Amino acid sequence: MTQAAQAVQSVDTLATSTEPVEAPRTFDSLNPRTGDVVASHPIHTAADVEAAVARARTEAAWWSALSYDERAEHLRQWRGTLARRMAQLAEVMHQETGKPHSDAMLEIALAIDHLAWAGGHAEKVLKRRRVPAGLLMANMAASVEYRPLGVVGVIGPWNYPVFTPMGSIAYALAAGNAVVFKPSEHTPGIGEWLAATFEGTVGRPVLQCVTGLGETGAALCRSGVDKVAFTGSTATGKRVMAACAENLVPVVIEAGGKDSLIVDEDADLDAAAEAAAWGANANAGQTCTGVERIYVHEKVYEPFLTRLVEATSKIRVDDSIDSQIGPITMPSQLDVIRRHITDALDRGGRAVLGGADAVGERYVQPTILVDVPEDSEAVQEETFGPTVTVTKVRNMDEAVALTNATRYGLGNTVYSAKNGVGIADRIRSGMTAINSVISFAAIPALPFGGVGDSGFGRIHGPDGLREFTYAKAVARQRFKPLMALSSFNRTEKQDQQLASTMMMMHGRASTLPKK
Ligand code: NDP
Repeated sequence: MTQAAQAVQSVDTLATSTEPVEAPRTFDSLNPRTGDVVASHPIHTAADVEAAVARARTEAAWWSALSYDERAEHLRQWRGTLARRMAQLAEVMHQETGKPHSDAMLEIALAIDHLAWAGGHAEKVLKRRRVPAGLLMANMAASVEYRPLGVVGVIGPWNYPVFTPMGSIAYALAAGNAVVFKPSEHTPGIGEWLAATFEGTVGRPVLQCVTGLGETGAALCRSGVDKVAFTGSTATGKRVMAACAENLVPVVIEAGGKDSLIVDEDADLDAAAEAAAWGANANAGQTCTGVERIYVHEKVYEPFLTRLVEATSKIRVDDSIDSQIGPITMPSQLDVIRRHITDALDRGGRAVLGGADAVGERYVQPTILVDVPEDSEAVQEETFGPTVTVTKVRNMDEAVALTNATRYGLGNTVYSAKNGVGIADRIRSGMTAINSVISFAAIPALPFGGVGDSGFGRIHGPDGLREFTYAKAVARQRFKPLMALSSFNRTEKQDQQLASTMMMMHGRASTLPKK
């Protein structure tokens, strides 16, 4: 039973009781490796969330009035705290998600790198800059700057509970906003840790954390925040959008994916197999940009598959401290993984590694499926487990067509010696890695986000900074115009001059030969 269901059950039990008791005010986070309670956390109500947002307004006024340099210095201090206390945060992550300690350390390292980039580049990307006013408005000086929105609500998932929300938090803070963060009910301690270290370092709660279940997230959407940055499933993303639409609150939606890895005939097969094994199984496959489908040129299909099975079968998965991947964090996901594997096998697919029995009570052994029909769940739906389908294709046209034939469009990987960029250009997705896997996420200057059911809006990079701002345009008259266009005193002669100018500037366009 999920924690949400447990809480609902507790409420039901209380509702039928004759004792006048209050609804539960806390929920437990559980260690998915053992089922033990890690800690109890408050279930923040709508009133609690509104109070946090009201506090954030005050903080936003202070924070946005600082210079870029002052904010960058505060963020630099916080990142120093994160770097010094990495091991402590990694332990909380290990406890709450079950992921190996070393994976948690890697995740924090990447988040720190993004924080450094966001703090260091905010001024360059957002400060007021001149733009050309154009010939008609040559008497004007035009400029644009990107101003903070105010208070940003961040709703995060549990799978990368530091890296993923920090993709919004770091960029929103660097752009001058205060942030109220609602972490997943599975990883509340991580959210509290981040907010506490921020306040401990900066001395003010510009970043706050509210905890609870889905209702707390829904309350954040309705709390009067100026934007919501949501990362999670497509289904919840739609609910978040609907709640935000009530008050015209803009949203960034970073949702699920069904990313493919394409292997061309000229690819380095050892490197491709190694990348595929890691991309499909790291974090127990619970990665939004994880490799879930592989399309391989028929000329190299067999040698690639042999290498992939070999690399994948070496991955250690057990409940020991040396396990290379952890358990499935959310117990209900085990049913989804089992269903996708069973459906694939029932429909003519074969497991060349793992299979239906690979799904245990907490852990799933890596599974490689071949000959799986393209319209099956294992190919079309996000599995979020250490499973992958491998499909032979005649050429790269077919690989691209099949890659594009899902409703998702988050990331992809291409292995090819010569044609990587050409193949990447034809894929409908927000990000493609060539001869590497998921590398785009670790490059702070690159935008991160998807198309279709993978969502919209971008975190990371200049786009990620601008996502948490609004553009403020200013047009200033430098001298009186030769032609006073915006005046009732415009003369017929001036209208004629305007028409002649238009003819000179654009009239020839229509005489150009049609292509
Ligand atoms: P969910 O959609 O279940 O939850 C995401 C967050 O939304 C959680 O904090 C959750 O709270 C909250 N929430 C739930 N219901 C509501 C609601 N009605 N209103 C507002 N907030 C709500 O996703 P998961 O946590 O299971 O994360 C896994 C998903 O995230 C996968 O689909 C994965 O692909 C995607 N993801 C996408 C990434 C990207 O950048 N594109 C990166 C990482 C993950 P609670 O947990 O308390 O219910």
